[in-house]
Amino acid sequence: MNYRHAYHAGNFADVMKHASLALIINYLKLKEKPFFILDTHAGTGRTDLAGTEAQKTGEYRDGIARILAEEKPHELLKPYLETLAGLGCAGPEPTSYPGSPLIASKLARPQDRLTFCELHPEDAETLRGNFHRDKRVKVFEIDGYTALKSMLPPKERRGLILIDPPFESRSEFERILQEIEQIHVRFATGTVMIWYPIKDPSLSGAFVEHLEHTGPEKTLRAELFIRASDDPTRMSGCGLIVINPPFTLKDQLTDLFGWLKDILAHDTGARARVEWIKK
Ligand code: SAM
Repeated sequence: MNYRHAYHAGNFADVMKHASLALIINYLKLKEKPFFILDTHAGTGRTDLAGTEAQKTGEYRDGIARILAEEKPHELLKPYLETLAGLGCAGPEPTSYPGSPLIASKLARPQDRLTFCELHPEDAETLRGNFHRDKRVKVFEIDGYTALKSMLPPKERRGLILIDPPFESRSEFERILQEIEQIHVRFATGTVMIWYPIKDPSLSGAFVEHLEHTGPEKTLRAELFIRASDDPTRMSGCGLIVINPPFTLKDQLTDLFGWLKDILAHDTGARARVEWIKK
């Protein structure tokens, strides 16, 4: 496990992922009934943007810093940006960036339950430290994929599973396809959000094609590219697969990613695509 999210915190991929996460959680909150959130690859919860790792790549400068510099950010960013501000991340020079566990817990209500898995021992310890007083939250230093077996279905019978692995292994896409089948058996009505990188579009394309043929109904794909896809060693974009999305999400992400692609663009290859892969 070499991946350290601190190098990438607050980059364009975090912006598109966390803005979408906020929209999904806000939708779950429309009903009083409690929900469950499982974040299988949670990270540390917060990154110091002045730290060595974030400064080394400076990726947040072309991500969250660009958004915070906008005078009129897109209105669909409101739940995301308000949550960030509540967690101390505001413009024009943010000093830290929260990860998915802090964002999800800030948006969740007292009746909701959250479980975060992080396999890296140091990161799991840091993550646990962020939540030791929050009774709604459990942090486990385990392989997040095993949690999909042991923790589903949740007693609440509603909720969100976020799968956001580091993609260090070439077999990660295959693993996710297997897990999707299992999740469907255990928790068919749950919302599942999977993040994936796009370097070589044929690799992520094969993943999506597989889902088109064998995946569950009601599956949405939302992709954001910040540059032309002409170098397969470099991330030109990233995508989200959302199974059982809120019925408003397709229109929201079409609107929002259309705006984000202009603000986050590196070259004229920037583009967005939001479509049902199975309706
Ligand atoms: N979800 C986080 C966010 O949005 O802020 C970022 C997570 S980062 C992309 C992936 C994390 O998964 C890393 O912190 C890594 O240590 C952890 N990890 C790697 N393999 C894992 C596994 N099998 N189970 C749980 N965590 C894992």
